[in-house]
Amino acid sequence: MQANGDREAPSMNLTCPTCSAHELRDTSLTEALRAGACPECRGALLSLIDYREWRGDHAPPEDSPTDPGEASTEPGDNKSMLRCPQCKGFMTKFRFSADTANHIDHCDRCDLAWLDHGEWRLVERLAREGQLTKVFDAAWQKRLREEQAKLRAETRWREQLGEDFAKAKELRTWLAGHPKGKELLAYLFLSQTEGA
Ligand SMILES: [Zn+2]
Ligand SMILES: [Zn+2]
Repeated sequence: MQANGDREAPSMNLTCPTCSAHELRDTSLTEALRAGACPECRGALLSLIDYREWRGDHAPPEDSPTDPGEASTEPGDNKSMLRCPQCKGFMTKFRFSADTANHIDHCDRCDLAWLDHGEWRLVERLAREGQLTKVFDAAWQKRLREEQAKLRAETRWREQLGEDFAKAKELRTWLAGHPKGKELLAYLFLSQTEGA
């Protein structure tokens, strides 16, 4: 089997997709996981082939993955469509979690992922659990959209109800789990419409 280090580095002669003027330099994101890093914006190009090999050697996941809240710098997230440094085709943006607005740019043709500065930190846990490539699957994206819709709905209610939102949520959970939930709700509803 060919060792990881024998293959040409993914960063060879490739320029940064966000700064375009800078050539990517070989680096490692974490122990023995190679990537091409931009010296200017500090984003990193990760070959998912390298990732799968690394993942094969680094399972099971570590007990204490990096806590995203620990780091001092805010992760970047480019908003524009990027062109793949290798094939120059457009990369596709994928959100990876409902709690963060960040995206990973992915080139399906070259199996390359672009991580903006600090994004590795956000996906490291997923990566260690072997889930990084699942982010690009339809099932993952569908689940994410459902989670996002739920969060958006909750945000709207929070805005509308203000400080009473927490209490309302508590009541809602209580009603949802109550055997007479529907009757209780009807009682509350009637007390509002009929003043009874
Ligand atoms: Zn750059
Ligand atoms: Zn490509």
